[in-house]
Parts: sequence; structure tokens; C-alpha cells
Amino acid sequence: MQEKTHTNKYSVGRFAPSPTGPLHSGSVIAALASYLHSRKQHGKWLLRIDDIDLPRNQTGAAEHILCTLEALGMVWDDEVVYQSRRISIYREILADLESRQLVYPCSCTRSETKGRAYPGSCRTGIKRNRKSCALRIRTDDRIIRFIDRIQGDVSQCLEEVSGDFIIKRSDGYIAYHLATVIDDQLQGVTEIIRGTDLLDSTLRQIYLQQLLGYSRPDYVHHPVALNQEGKKISKQNHAPAINSKDGAKTLFQALMFLGQSPDPELRNGSCQEILNWGIEHWNIDTVPENDRVLLQTY
Ligand code: GLU
Repeated sequence: MQEKTHTNKYSVGRFAPSPTGPLHSGSVIAALASYLHSRKQHGKWLLRIDDIDLPRNQTGAAEHILCTLEALGMVWDDEVVYQSRRISIYREILADLESRQLVYPCSCTRSETKGRAYPGSCRTGIKRNRKSCALRIRTDDRIIRFIDRIQGDVSQCLEEVSGDFIIKRSDGYIAYHLATVIDDQLQGVTEIIRGTDLLDSTLRQIYLQQLLGYSRPDYVHHPVALNQEGKKISKQNHAPAINSKDGAKTLFQALMFLGQSPDPELRNGSCQEILNWGIEHWNIDTVPENDRVLLQTY
């Protein structure tokens, strides 16, 4: 299938946090990497709140994320986009995939499918006496491949690794992959910089872009920050919220984690001074490849 890439040279990046908790030091790394990369190229940097999974949203988290980014000086372009307000758009595109027979209902439970590629059990119909639940997209044996400026050559045969994957969940919510691909296309995003924890997601998203005839942004995956126990710094692992008064120190720490070499006196600089230095000196080629412990620099 013909793959489209963006022909415009104008860079559009984005940060798309899920408001399942406040901004923490791990998410600041993702925000900073995409921010610096866009700003270095005089491009746009968009902010999208991935709040489509309503049951997982935490009250006040989206506001905390917005306020903290502002306090850190990472100001976005255009209006903030909220996925929860775009359900009708996702449904329309899902209907198109359904009309092309690319989607089928699946009644398998999570425990029946856990830990292996989905073998396509419901391709020929759902099990008797079970309600139709999720919707899956058909995969095939094509190899999905892209070149990542940090991770190198990445490829996967989805049929073998994930199998047909869910694009509408059994609880009725549109799944993350479909909503993300639609928004990235409609927002004209040309570059996506995010953590290595989303590498597998990228391959599925490229597949959806191919089916939908969308352009493929450039994808870059930075290392994920780990805590002292070697676990990803995440909301699930109870990472503490960023306190805006430590904003500059958090930014400096993120810059170091991303393999940049700021002047030591910048350690005591303001958020704006750190961001200005970062924009001027941003070098994606020095960002390390592997996930690692986030060293406390303050
Ligand atoms: N919303 C996702 C998250 O917070 C990231 C989505 C993306 O970058 O595509 O993990």
C-alpha cells in the first residue's frame, strides 16, 4: 500500500498527555523533547489532552497539566484540543472502516486473549451466547517499518505480534490508537516525539494511517525515565506531581536526561533561560537510546 509522507516542510509537533494524573518528571521529558524539537525548527507545538478514556481521567489533572506547562514556560500554539469533544469525528471514520469490511466485532474476553497475538477467533463471527463487544481491525502479513532518529530501523509484522487489534472497546469507548491517528492527521502533525513505551503503538498507528490514506508523521522515541527501582516514572507508579516552584530544576534535569549538555551555570537559571538554551542547542543526535534511571540533579 502506498504510504504518504508530509510534503510540507513546516514542522508541527505535539504533546498529548492523558489526564490520568498530574504532570510528573517523566512526562516533562516527553513535553520538553517535543517542544524543543518543534521550536528549534520554528515550527508549531500543539497541546492535545487525550481524555477519551473517561473512566481513567482524574479530576483536575488536565488543569494541572496546563497550568504546570505554562509555569514552566512551555507555551503551546493554537487552542488546546480535547479528545472527549471529538467523539463524533472518530465515529464517522470508524463507520468508514466498517463499511470497507476492515473491522469486525469480537466477543473474546481479556483473559482469553492475554499475552499473545490475537489469533482472529472472532473473524468468522462471535461466539454463541455472547454479546458482541469490542471492534477489531483486521491486520495482515505486511511489514510495518519506519526509521526512528534515535531508535534506528523499527519494523514489525502486526499479524504476528499483536494480531487484529481493538479500535473500539467493549465499553463503547473509541480506542487510543484510532483517536490518536485521526487527531494527528486532522491537526497536521508532522513530527511525533514520545517515549519508547509507545514504540509498539507507533507500528499500529502507522498501519491505521495506511488504511485511512493518511500522511505519516516522522516518529522519534526518546528513552523513558525510570525510578530507582527501575520502573517507569508514571502515574501508575505514583510519580509525584511537579511543583511549579521547582520548574526550572525539573527542566534542567530533563535536559540532562535527554543527553544535552547545558552550561553548568544554567543549573541555577530560570525556566525561560533553560528553554532558550535548549531551543538554540537542541541536538536530537545526542539523545541516548535506552531507558534509564532519571538522575536527581537537585
Ligand atoms: N496520551 C498518551 C500518554 O499520555 C500519549 C499519546 C501519544 O503521544 O500519542 O501516554
